[in-house]
Amino acid sequence: MIVFVLCFSSILMVMYNYVSRRNLAELEDRAMFIASLVNCEGWEFLKQNSIDSEIRTTIVQSDGQVLFDSKLDVKQMENHSDREEIQEALEEGIGESKRYSESILNKTSNYAVRLDNGDVLRVSMEEDTIFRLLLNLLNPMLLAMLLTVLLSLLLATKFSKDMMDPIDKIDLENPDDRDVYDEMKPFIRRIVSQNQQIYRQMNELREENKKQDAMRREFTANVSHELKTPLTSISGFAEIIRDGMVQEKDLPHFADTIYQEAQRLIVLVNDILKLSRLEDDTVKVEDEKTTVDLLELCLDVKKRLTLSAGKAHVFMECGGDHAEISGIRGTLEEIVYNVCDNAIKYNRPGGMVNICVKQLEQEVLVKVTDNGIGIPEEDRSRIFERFYRVNKSHSKEVGGTGLGLSIVKHGMELHNARITLDSDEGRGTEICLYFPCGEPLQEDA
Ligand code: ADP
Repeated sequence: MIVFVLCFSSILMVMYNYVSRRNLAELEDRAMFIASLVNCEGWEFLKQNSIDSEIRTTIVQSDGQVLFDSKLDVKQMENHSDREEIQEALEEGIGESKRYSESILNKTSNYAVRLDNGDVLRVSMEEDTIFRLLLNLLNPMLLAMLLTVLLSLLLATKFSKDMMDPIDKIDLENPDDRDVYDEMKPFIRRIVSQNQQIYRQMNELREENKKQDAMRREFTANVSHELKTPLTSISGFAEIIRDGMVQEKDLPHFADTIYQEAQRLIVLVNDILKLSRLEDDTVKVEDEKTTVDLLELCLDVKKRLTLSAGKAHVFMECGGDHAEISGIRGTLEEIVYNVCDNAIKYNRPGGMVNICVKQLEQEVLVKVTDNGIGIPEEDRSRIFERFYRVNKSHSKEVGGTGLGLSIVKHGMELHNARITLDSDEGRGTEICLYFPCGEPLQEDA
């Protein structure tokens, strides 16, 4: 519609200008022609010959009095000396003017020429103004507009339907770029490549799920197995006692065995609980973090392990820098405790365990060294797996569950910390825990 109105009005303006220029030129020609006749023959002949009905001819004296007019009665006409075109003609020989007459729909173009005797000849012509033209063209213009709108609607509907139909019909699962127009082909290619990406990712997810399922099944099987052994022995001993098959003097021994097995169960269940808590993604780690002095923490752990170290005849020492990190105190204690506990459990009477805390440039190192039995090379990569033990019976003897290092590994991951293991079979083990301390703890962020 805007284009239509703009086109229409500019064409109208150009045409109107052209026509009005032509009219003026014609008027000028007529005036010159009549003036030359009047110069030769006087103006009286004008009375007989009304040259053109469209054109009005007037003869005005140099003082403004009207001598002749082809349309009006001279006697009723006022003095014309104030008319623009007359004044101009008197001064310069020719003059012209345009005046709106009655309404803005009509205007009169005047052209005046000074005659040889000093009088002025004026010719005038009524002309339509651009507003009249507009008024005349209003109906056809509205009709054309209506047609334009209808045609646009019709075409727009058809084109958008042609454009949308192939889009509506796309089989998103298996889009085929032969079914669509050229402009849509890149779009189809995008869908195809995205589909491929989705399939790939879905397959990866499926694989991952399968792996996780397998791990979960293995864990459940392991847990059941680990629980079953002590439960079987508790049940067996209880049965013998119930049936009166135990002599009075052996009773404390049997009760102690039951007690020991029950303790094992408690430790095992506790470890499983710790592990599942560490794996729980919903726990907000950041909320629980505080500033922890790792040397103080290690000294605490050492104190807690004094008794078992004494029993195992293992000498413990602990020292280093008061290095601070941001972390979950309980979990950090668990990590250091498990590593030190192992260093005592898998040691020899007279052996020693050394705990050392060191502030490095970007990290804090907690190094636990023992000169115990060491870990065979082939087992080193697996000891962080759940329930993996190098020597099952030895581990059981010293109260191991096979979960200690799994808990360590998970706890370290939670702190974005890394762990390294160095061991020499028969000579000892060194475990290094590196905690990042790059970002200081924000108090009220
Ligand atoms: P456990 O409860 O049996 O100690 P862990 O997960 O803590 O289970 O350790 C896994 C296994 O790694 C242990 O059974 C032990 O064989 C071996 N291990 C761990 N730490 C040491 C160490 N400091 N020296 C020798 N062997 C170790």
